[in-house]
Amino acid sequence: MSSIAERLQGVRATLPKGITLVAVSKYHSEEEIGEAYAAGQRDFGENHAQELARKAQTLPNDIRWHFIGHLQTNKVKLIMPYVSLIHAVDSWHLLSEINKQARRLERNVDVLLQLHVAEEETKFGLTPDEYDELLSQQPWRELSAVRIRGVMAMATHTDDEAQIAEEFEKVDTIFQQSKANHFADMPHFDLLSYGMSDDYPIALRHGSNIVRIGTAIFGPRQYQKTSE
Ligand SMILES: *Cc1c(COP(=O)(O)O)cnc(C)c1O
Repeated sequence: MSSIAERLQGVRATLPKGITLVAVSKYHSEEEIGEAYAAGQRDFGENHAQELARKAQTLPNDIRWHFIGHLQTNKVKLIMPYVSLIHAVDSWHLLSEINKQARRLERNVDVLLQLHVAEEETKFGLTPDEYDELLSQQPWRELSAVRIRGVMAMATHTDDEAQIAEEFEKVDTIFQQSKANHFADMPHFDLLSYGMSDDYPIALRHGSNIVRIGTAIFGPRQYQKTSE
């Protein structure tokens, strides 16, 4: 079996210039992350607050930690000292709590709004209507410590590549429209986070500039190994 460094290199070789690779290290050990780090990787993604905080405390300081999962309001505080980009913000309530906790630490933080475009039933993510509502009705411009940098999404888990392409295309379109309508004066609204191990080549053909890849780098996750 190939090593983490080799698989990382293999994935990188498929990414065009200018694409950010987030190595999704959830459920993988500090040692495994260390191997990817030694191979030059600096962006890592986690989806549990405690796990991110624990790893961030022991691993090198120049790692950029991405929180990619559903974030509960009461966990915002836990990740705030470490997190560089919060990917899956899907309510005004969460957005204001992130601002509050960032202000407490006198820092600024970047976030993405999560769009729900997949077929699967999930309570996470904003529908396109909810997304428009948040941007047109909530006073997000007044949140002094938070910058909305773009959007995040997941496609339906399916083999139907046309469907996946259609869903990613929809996210791209919504991003472009909202950029024109709400962020015309904000060049920092420039991030599109979608594409995982199985579907990132499709995502890259449909506007993504951040891919979140776990399995293709670290191998399968062993969920029972975690302490959470
Ligand atoms: C786990 C996870 C990924 C990575 O998935 P792989 O299939 O292992 O590449 C990407 N995004 C989110 C939100 C995840 O939870």
